Amino acid sequence: MGRRLLFLGPPGAGKGTQAAMLAKAIGVPHISTGAMLRDNVAQGTDLGKQAQAIMAAGDLVPDELVVAMVKDRLSQEDAACGYLLDGFPRNVVQAQALDDAIGAGALELALLLEADEEELVQRLLKRAQDEGREDDNEVTIRNRQQVYRDETEPLVGYYPDSGVSVVAVDGLGTISAVFARLVTALADN
Ligand code: ADP
Repeated sequence: MGRRLLFLGPPGAGKGTQAAMLAKAIGVPHISTGAMLRDNVAQGTDLGKQAQAIMAAGDLVPDELVVAMVKDRLSQEDAACGYLLDGFPRNVVQAQALDDAIGAGALELALLLEADEEELVQRLLKRAQDEGREDDNEVTIRNRQQVYRDETEPLVGYYPDSGVSVVAVDGLGTISAVFARLVTALADN
């Protein structure tokens, strides 16, 4: 049986890696709005053109664009038996749009990957340096953290209020240690 899950957590916490591994392990599609938007940018679609500069600055792409993209993805056949959402919803407006689309209470669980903000900033700075990503500078990295804190973190309160449990998992440690914690959290919840 499929499960409808979502993944929350600040930029740099290893969410994308863990979400991909976890989705594979439980046999549901991994739906990452960041990856979908990057695909659109790479392919030069209209959406990609609208999103490119916003993403480079670490701001949020307009809700209506992202919501339309996600609804389209969720209507595909492979999502009928569950999914793991990663990077969406990113604010309360998107969460409400998701509730409207799939029905309030359709989500089973939100996993929250926790990590210390300053540690994340240092991690992302090092990655930007190692990979020579000039667009990923300290200003945009800090902006992404602030956008997370202001826009996305309120969902940690929103979901329990609407009957969806949020299970926090410590994001510190090796990839396999964190993955093991997530698997345990899923088995227990
Ligand atoms: P990160 O974990 O580095 O923030 P993501 O891959 O989740 O990366 O997203 C990259 C960028 O794509 C975000 O900074 C934002 O500009 C855009 N984005 C992704 N998901 C959403 C969303 N749900 N709403 C608005 N913008 C989004």
